[in-house]
Amino acid sequence: MSSCQPLPNRPRYCLRQLEGVLLTQEQIEARVAALGEEITRDYADRSVTVLGVLNGVVVFLADLLRHLDLPCRLDFVTLCSYGDCAESNGEVSLVKEPALPIAGECVLVVEDIVDTGRTLAWLVEWLRPQAEEVRVCCLLDKPSRRVTPVGLDYVGFEIPDHFVVGYGLDFAQAYRNLPYVAVLKPETYQVVGGE
Ligand code: 5GP
Repeated sequence: MSSCQPLPNRPRYCLRQLEGVLLTQEQIEARVAALGEEITRDYADRSVTVLGVLNGVVVFLADLLRHLDLPCRLDFVTLCSYGDCAESNGEVSLVKEPALPIAGECVLVVEDIVDTGRTLAWLVEWLRPQAEEVRVCCLLDKPSRRVTPVGLDYVGFEIPDHFVVGYGLDFAQAYRNLPYVAVLKPETYQVVGGE
C-alpha cells in the first residue's frame, strides 16, 4: 500500500494483521497540538463541555485535553451503532448518557473516526435541542465513505477508505494501545465478517 510506511519491528504480535503505518506518532502529536491551539483560539475563554464518544476516543481525547487552554468540563457518552462488521446501518442507541447537564452548554463532541457519519449525525441531533451550541472534533475523517452529511468543525486527518487501528481505535478490541494509526489488512476483517 503506497500511503503506508513500514511497521516497526515491535510490537511483534500485530505484524501479521497490519499492512503498515498510516500516521506516525510524531505526525499525530503535531496535529493534535495544532487542533488544541485552534480550538482554544476559537472558544476564546468560553467554557466548554468536552463530550468524548467512548471507547475509541480515549487516547486522542487525553492528548487533546492537555492542549486546551480553556475552562472545560469533561464527560463521556457510549453509543451502540448497529450494523455489520463493514458499516453502521444508522440505528443508534445511547448506552451511557452524559452525567453532566447539557442544557444551555457549549458542547464539543470529540470522536475518534467518522465513516458513514450515521453515528455522529444521530448524536448531534440528540444534543442540539438541549445544548446552547454543538461543535464536533474528530481525529480521523473518511469523507469518501459518507452516507449521512454531518458538519465537522475540527478534523485531525482526512484519510482514504481503509480500516484503521491504533491510537485508541480497535479491531475486535485489539490494537487500541498502538501509539500510531495503522491500516488493517482487508483479509483480516473480511474473514471475520464472513463467519
Ligand atoms: P459511522 O456511523 O460514521 O459509520 O461509524 C463510526 C464508527 O465506526 C466509529 O466511531 C468507529 O467505531 C467505527 N469505525 C469506522 N471506521 C473505522 C475504522 O477504520 N477503524 C475502526 N477501528 N473503527 C471504525
